Amino acid sequence: MNNQTLNQSKKSPEIIIIGAGFSGLCMAIKLKKSGINSFKIFEKGKNLGGTWHFNTYPGCGCDVPSFLYSFSFETKYDWSLNYPKQKEILQYLEDCAKKYKIVEHIQFNTKITEAIFQSEKNIWQISTDSEEQVQANILISACGQLNQPKIPNIEGIETFEGTQFHSASWNHQYDLNGKTVATIGNGASAVQFLPIIAQQVKKLIVFHRSANWVIPKDDKKFNKLDHWIFKTFPFTTRLYRWFVYLYFESVLVTVNLQKDGIVGKLIALWLNYDRNKKVKEERLKSILKPKSPFLCKRFLLSNNYYETLQLPNVEVVSNQIKKVSQNSIVTEDGTEYPIDALIFATGFESTKFLSSIKIVGLNNQLLQDRWKDGAEAYKGIMVSGFPNFFMLYGPNTNLGSNSIIFMIESQVNYIMSCIKIIQKKSIESLDIKPDILSEFNQKLQTDAEKTVWANNCSSWYKTDQGKITNNWPYSSVRYWLTTLKANLKDFNFS
Ligand code: NAP
Repeated sequence: MNNQTLNQSKKSPEIIIIGAGFSGLCMAIKLKKSGINSFKIFEKGKNLGGTWHFNTYPGCGCDVPSFLYSFSFETKYDWSLNYPKQKEILQYLEDCAKKYKIVEHIQFNTKITEAIFQSEKNIWQISTDSEEQVQANILISACGQLNQPKIPNIEGIETFEGTQFHSASWNHQYDLNGKTVATIGNGASAVQFLPIIAQQVKKLIVFHRSANWVIPKDDKKFNKLDHWIFKTFPFTTRLYRWFVYLYFESVLVTVNLQKDGIVGKLIALWLNYDRNKKVKEERLKSILKPKSPFLCKRFLLSNNYYETLQLPNVEVVSNQIKKVSQNSIVTEDGTEYPIDALIFATGFESTKFLSSIKIVGLNNQLLQDRWKDGAEAYKGIMVSGFPNFFMLYGPNTNLGSNSIIFMIESQVNYIMSCIKIIQKKSIESLDIKPDILSEFNQKLQTDAEKTVWANNCSSWYKTDQGKITNNWPYSSVRYWLTTLKANLKDFNFS
């Protein structure tokens, strides 16, 4: 959308979406469904899919069951696994994009670097990394929370002469066979690829910092009969989806939202029993025993993580890393571990929302300055002083359990309701009122302190200072209700 084509008529606002992952595609499909075609998606990758395009590590998959990890308006009856793998999710997204003719709206290999709101014209002036300049009436970020891989700042890391890469940018050219490989990080990504690479490498050295709660995974395959039933009786697909949703919602309400809830304690007792049964060695039992309450950090799902850590070619090191040298890792106790390759499964810069884009609102205010004490937004979607700017999967919209797709669809619903207001009332600029925003966040932060995530544990849900910036501290039903419709009296507009 260049200067000539920018449509000033709010009957069909020009819209720019940043990112073609789950949320960007969902937004685009809903716009199309309501007859708005004047949008463009800028995607930094060479393909759509977001997380599911970038994360290709061995065993990569989702910990939310497939029937729930899909759009409510685009159910799929023939998922092959209960917990879908990356390739099948990516294929699903590609199929959706094709069906709704979204691909022609996407400009690939293009990063948005800057977006400045020009208040005299009520437009967003947007720059890309190829120095392209575009303008839009409405700017929608669909960048997600887990898009900037985190590499720890370890002394000497730049001197390492072997191969090193992050789980989110897996080096498939590097042959792990016969190599001594070190991994750092034991979160959701690591538990998926460790069992696979342990079969390939000569030696696997797993550097371990804190233990997580590991739940056995119901990793069942759907067979032809299941598919036949789901296809022939479509209501069974819906029914199953509802069943899975209610199951996860009950975990969210009884464990995540209760700081010292009894259900969480009972599940922890069962998981302790399960681990003690599976792990033989006392030293390993002690390393793998979580120090934080159940679900304070993200739970892990695996049937073979503990077994993998006990393989003869696998060593678990709990001494902390002191430095990396040209060809080894040295721990605090002075032990040196020679290695050929180093794989980081150290997660993402999850609390630095949108930090790779310079976003400037009214009165030259930088979004990053506004968020210096931790990101926050109205319903995770809008920030006052940044008119016509919306976020998908923004601050405080992640769930400790249950499907993020549910949350994304609710956000898209709310944004569509705002766009309808803009169209109907011929509004040029829609800005959430500062008092509405601060009242919303004061309550949210007070209530977040009552959740299990506020316990004493480090997690990607909160900043180093302990502010919970990522998670929604209520039920997902409440989020759905709160995003049903935008209320004109919540906004300043012109
Ligand atoms: P993560 O859960 O944030 O785990 C990062 C791991 O790296 C933790 O074990 C952490 O230890 C460790 N670590 C970080 N910095 C370190 C350092 N300087 N030294 C030593 N260890 C360090 O990251 P992730 O596994 O990539 O997963 C992130 C999220 O992505 C998941 O929680 C999930 O929501 C999503 N994801 C989902 C799936 C799925 O659905 N299956 C798969 C992959 C990712 P500490 O715990 O001690 O900080």
